[in-house]
Amino acid sequence: MTVKIKAQGLRDWGIPFGDYLVVAGPCSAESEEQVHATVAELAKLSVNLVRAGLWKPRTRPGCFEGVGEPGLRWLTEAGKAHGLPVTTEVATPQHVEQALKAGVDVLWIGARTTVNPFSVQPIADALKGVDIPVMVKNPINPDIELWIGALERLNAAGITKLAAIHRGFTAYKKSRFRNKPNWKIPIELRRRVPSLPMICDPSHISGARKLIPEVAQTALDLTFDGLMIESHINPDVALSDAKQQLVPADLGKVLAGLVPMRATPSSDELNYIQGLRNIIDQLDATLIGLLGQRMTIAREIGRFKKQTRLTVFQPGRWKETLQTRIRKGKDLGLAEDFLLRVYQYIHEESIRHQEEGLKD
Ligand code: PEP
Ligand code: MN
Repeated sequence: MTVKIKAQGLRDWGIPFGDYLVVAGPCSAESEEQVHATVAELAKLSVNLVRAGLWKPRTRPGCFEGVGEPGLRWLTEAGKAHGLPVTTEVATPQHVEQALKAGVDVLWIGARTTVNPFSVQPIADALKGVDIPVMVKNPINPDIELWIGALERLNAAGITKLAAIHRGFTAYKKSRFRNKPNWKIPIELRRRVPSLPMICDPSHISGARKLIPEVAQTALDLTFDGLMIESHINPDVALSDAKQQLVPADLGKVLAGLVPMRATPSSDELNYIQGLRNIIDQLDATLIGLLGQRMTIAREIGRFKKQTRLTVFQPGRWKETLQTRIRKGKDLGLAEDFLLRVYQYIHEESIRHQEEGLKD
């Protein structure tokens, strides 16, 4: 299906920012003092937009579920006091109505809302005729269609100041990350909707402070337009996401350590890169040629196995092939997991060719 999203650039939102947009603030607004103290510190950094969750979607009931409507005033007043626009998560039309009434500058839709079109549509309906930027987090499951679908619903309601927030995907296996980055999904979103601004949320991907710089830098390397990072005046006593929130001073250090990347090379740089790309093109042509030759031989083996009534799949040979190729590849600095996957695909295709050979 073709994607029909008309999104304005991030610079059209009316929020000034440097190389990339920096959204920061606590996971949750907890008290008026905490919001004001945090925003006062963030205002000293290169933060462009303040975040705080008021209605918190928690996995299990009985946890802190946010301060709700009273927090709207804390947030908007703190933003005004320090000249910073503010954003909060909305999950229902009622949240939208209350946030708009309070003068929140930007809204975002959370990962647990994006998964459900029954939730997204009423939010989009509540935003008809309103000119406000809306950021849409990816759904918790790695389904790009749901992510695009939510953006399309908002766009169809007339919202053109749109951005996607990449916050990772639920990790079912043990992983370094709280939510797996699965970068190929935001990369595919960029390919399918090039004009859509993309923001990365390294806090929810990492789930731990120490991983945040690495994830944030990867996002900048991959041409993300902004970062959303959780920051709390006293994270150790935070009522939600304590382990991943940074004190503002540490956020300052993380931001200072990031290297913004340019998406467009100069002509000299392009010439140099082009020279290397030409070599890659030749190597790829050789690689595909060799794969073609390998499959021709596989077909010949298939023909022979048919004559001699041997099974196509020979487990001993497969085991030995895998072991020797992985050993050789590892010597050349290739990752074992990569080699395993490449050879699984080659073997699958080889079996297909051998079976074709049986029919010859
Ligand atoms: C949050 O931003 O605090 C939050 C709840 O995020 P997510 O929707 O990504 O889980
Ligand atoms: Mn959070």
